[in-house]
Amino acid sequence: MKLKNFIGGDFLEPTLGNYIENMNPATGKVISLLPNSTHEDVQLAVEAATIAKKSWATTSGEDRFKILNKIADLIESKLDELALAETTDTGKPIKFSKAVDIPRAASNFRFFATAAMQFASESHAMGDYAINYTLRQPIGVVGCISPWNLPLYLFTWKIAPALAAGNCVIAKPSELSPTTAYLLGEICNEAGLPKGVLNILHGDGLHTGSAIVAHPDIKAISFTGGTNTGKKIAEVAAPMFKKISLELGGKNPCLIFADCEYEKTISEVSRLAFSNQGQICLCGSRILIEQSIYEKFKTDLIHKVQQLNIGDPLLEATQIGSLISKAHQQKVMNYIQLAKEEGGVILCGGKIPITNSQTQNNAFIEPTIIENLGPQCRTNQEEIFGPVITIQSFNTDEEAITLANDSNYGLAASVWTNNHNRAMQLTTKLNTGIVWINCWLLRDLRTPFGGMKDSGVGREGGEEAMRFFTEAKNI
Ligand code: NAD
Repeated sequence: MKLKNFIGGDFLEPTLGNYIENMNPATGKVISLLPNSTHEDVQLAVEAATIAKKSWATTSGEDRFKILNKIADLIESKLDELALAETTDTGKPIKFSKAVDIPRAASNFRFFATAAMQFASESHAMGDYAINYTLRQPIGVVGCISPWNLPLYLFTWKIAPALAAGNCVIAKPSELSPTTAYLLGEICNEAGLPKGVLNILHGDGLHTGSAIVAHPDIKAISFTGGTNTGKKIAEVAAPMFKKISLELGGKNPCLIFADCEYEKTISEVSRLAFSNQGQICLCGSRILIEQSIYEKFKTDLIHKVQQLNIGDPLLEATQIGSLISKAHQQKVMNYIQLAKEEGGVILCGGKIPITNSQTQNNAFIEPTIIENLGPQCRTNQEEIFGPVITIQSFNTDEEAITLANDSNYGLAASVWTNNHNRAMQLTTKLNTGIVWINCWLLRDLRTPFGGMKDSGVGREGGEEAMRFFTEAKNI
């Protein structure tokens, strides 16, 4: 299969004819070719978006709602096809694609479809002699760049609010997971989205992503990906005075107290650490356990994790699939080696598993738990973004907070305790953009989403996203 760019409602070959191979990381086989688009293609997309811009900006909220809601319906109706594409591109278990990735992509469109009708702005009265009101107008043409870990889920999380707010969009999925974004182009045509309102360009960061960021007519960039890429994007976009929203990496702490609901916490920690092979920016990777239950919790967690079913992502029973690529597998294995050199003890996993039906070229890694590492070592400081966690113990709430905050990242934390007062006090002291109490990945799309410190700039979700994708004018 040869994927094409979606520009002005048409499917086009890249101008310079350059293509990249798309691999299924669970088999090591090439499954398609995708365009490696260049600034010539970005220019075509910007021209298409510029033609569509005026009409889409003045389309009524109700008409925008109808089209975006139809896109949500179509995503739902194509659940099996989209989930298969997501799993084949990424190696993630099909069960996960069907339960998480694709339903959430539909929810993103449905949620922001309603926002198109309900978005309102403020007014400020000055005594009885004047009144200000805030007019929020679409920015115009905006860029959305997303990663491979939750492909259609994160792609639509940016595109849907940008469209709902009346912008035309130039969007780029990761070159490692392009297929569902390609299928989204077909869905948009079927839903009646006017030509040029959404343009989807494929390619890598060097050629395509950087050309989107640098284009002078793309006035805002919404990016999700690694912290280093976020820095590069900011270096280009900031001097051009573009609006930027950066959702970046994490090294998320998980604080477990002796008074937690024990069985539930064991199974939730296994889920928050290893869902999607640990490749979710919100996954917990630094597991902090109160000393009095440390040994028992450790033993029970190892037991739970060893029961996880690793294997062919296409089987419904599979819980742990492949990592995204051989290169990423190598990076994660290097971190496991580093952990050993730093004095870490591998309690379980740590190896590339022998899987029945797969070839040598696949990118699996066993779920891995490591102990005996202090907070300052690189294993506990750097984002690994794979099925690897460390466990550490603490004695007091203060010690738990110090360990949790001892990171350049500040995306998400989870706290596991039945002591409500303790939980509420901890939430004020944790330096993260999200704190979950006795739950994980429970998401209400109205809430602000984003990180502190090196985990990003700005917030997505609900009104935050609608505000990002509009310019406020005081009248
Ligand atoms: P990445 O930064 O390598 O790539 C992300 C996207 O940016 C891809 O589409 C890529 O092609 C593009 N890109 C790369 N270089 C670019 C450049 N110079 N200019 C413009 N675009 C460029 O990240 P990844 O490996 O795809 O994703 C993993 C990272 O994403 C992890 O660090 C993870 O924590 C983070 N992430 C964060 C969130 C969040 O919401 N905070 C969510 C998911 C993933």
